[in-house]
Amino acid sequence: MLNHRHGNGCRFIVVTGGVISGLGKGVTTASIAALLQAQGYKVTSIKIDPYINVDAGTMRPTEHGEVYVTYDGGETDQDLGTYERFLGVPMSKENSITTGQVYQTVIAKERNLEYDGKCVEVIPHIPQEVERRVKEVAKNTKADFVMIEVGGTSGDYQNVLFLDAFRRMHLAGDPVAFVHVVYLPIPGNLGEMKTKPAQLSVRMLYEVGVTPDFIVTRSSKPLDAPRREKIGTFCNVAPTRVISNPDLPTTYQVPDHLEEQGMTKELLTLFDLPYKPNRLAAWKTLVKKISNAKKPARIGIVGKYFDIGDFTLEDSYISVIEAIKTACWHNGAKPEIVWINAKDFEKDPKKLNSLDNLNGVIVPGGFGGSGVEGKIAAIQYCREHKIPYLGLCYGLQMAVIEFARHVAGLVGANTTEINPKTKHPVIIILPEQAKNVKAKHYGATMRLGNWTATLKPNTKVWQLYGKKTQVVERHRHRYEVNPDYISQLEQAGLVFSGASPDRKLMEYVELPDHPFFVATQAHPEFTSRALEPNPLFNGFVKACLSK
Ligand code: GLN
Repeated sequence: MLNHRHGNGCRFIVVTGGVISGLGKGVTTASIAALLQAQGYKVTSIKIDPYINVDAGTMRPTEHGEVYVTYDGGETDQDLGTYERFLGVPMSKENSITTGQVYQTVIAKERNLEYDGKCVEVIPHIPQEVERRVKEVAKNTKADFVMIEVGGTSGDYQNVLFLDAFRRMHLAGDPVAFVHVVYLPIPGNLGEMKTKPAQLSVRMLYEVGVTPDFIVTRSSKPLDAPRREKIGTFCNVAPTRVISNPDLPTTYQVPDHLEEQGMTKELLTLFDLPYKPNRLAAWKTLVKKISNAKKPARIGIVGKYFDIGDFTLEDSYISVIEAIKTACWHNGAKPEIVWINAKDFEKDPKKLNSLDNLNGVIVPGGFGGSGVEGKIAAIQYCREHKIPYLGLCYGLQMAVIEFARHVAGLVGANTTEINPKTKHPVIIILPEQAKNVKAKHYGATMRLGNWTATLKPNTKVWQLYGKKTQVVERHRHRYEVNPDYISQLEQAGLVFSGASPDRKLMEYVELPDHPFFVATQAHPEFTSRALEPNPLFNGFVKACLSK
């Protein structure tokens, strides 16, 4: 439905989903954003999560997927990571909106008498707060386009108030377009692509007053002409605005695929804006690199989130996986990720030999005691057998413990997260964080978001970051290297190659006499982009390829 889409202000594109969850709405949203960005527009993207949690920080990764961390310390849904990887633009925590946040604000305002004695109601006050938040993002980012991905599917009880907000904005004359992403099943017994569930999901959007402008079809196969026509007719959309988005070898092929079908042009036409052809050179180069990548790089991720089956595994580590993949492609290598259950090494240390078959090993972030001794054993094996190692957050803490125990002679060294009574607490909780934990204030109480590190010249980390003396990376942790042990560890040969400018917080460690043994207290996976891998991952993969 076209409605006042002209003008110079910010435009909004609302992306909804139908038929099933887990459709790839995030990738579709990010890809459309990338297309508009390539046209020269300033684009940002909001994720709406209809749950009551104020943020994703208190949720288990096995339940919710990875907790992504924004530069300003937001703990958000992993889709914000997808947006950053595709756009190369940092997203603020304001770009993550949950039902919990919206109600929290409305209730706080009511207690503050900000509604002038009115009866405060779900409608209109909740949609009004949603609108306020979305427009605040538009204002703060000065974006030409704000993408808004609404979590869940049409027909869900939970996202109706959000859809109502965008229906109201559209009705009031704000430039809003609706893109509905649907799933087209191909039942095995029929072998035929079916459109009925998609049609019904559009009908459920109508029920809340939303008419889609575009239908994007997700399926294992491309959409054919008769079905494109059928969906157009029954969903009241021109066939040129029915866009096929089949499974592709990688998600980074999606922008080009949508562009090829004329989606950018159609979208800009809807907003009365001109279309410029041939703007996707950078994405085409990436796609070429991906298909040309031949040399396999076998990289092991030693983790512990294996307890609830295979299906959530990738989601829990999505940023790490994507950072590995892009670093591989940029180095002409074909990534092969090997999942390693840390607990296997605890049960059977002989299994450590299997690490010899890898080009490199990563111990990613983690919490709690499960699988910790297995991780430490894997790190020891990598250190002693010169296997490239990259430690991320917990992976740094485990590397420090391993070095303390087996090189510095600090028997029984540990983190107080696991053994509060350890004789050698090489990893400890800082007093400010300890207060929060004691008071059970777990939500958003960690060292979060961007923190600066000063790098030591002539170290590997300094080289990897292009000899910069100061770098900024994202953080999400409570524990730190214990300052009391630093000189002892240094004397034994561990190099602290980066620390906070006041040198109180250790940020990077490395070993000089090793092909690649680097660990960081930060999460460099969160700043790795599709078109530009993070320097640590890039260096790690380079080392892996020469193993
Ligand atoms: N559990 C560790 C801490 O809280 C590491 C956290 C992480 O890896 N993100 O410090």
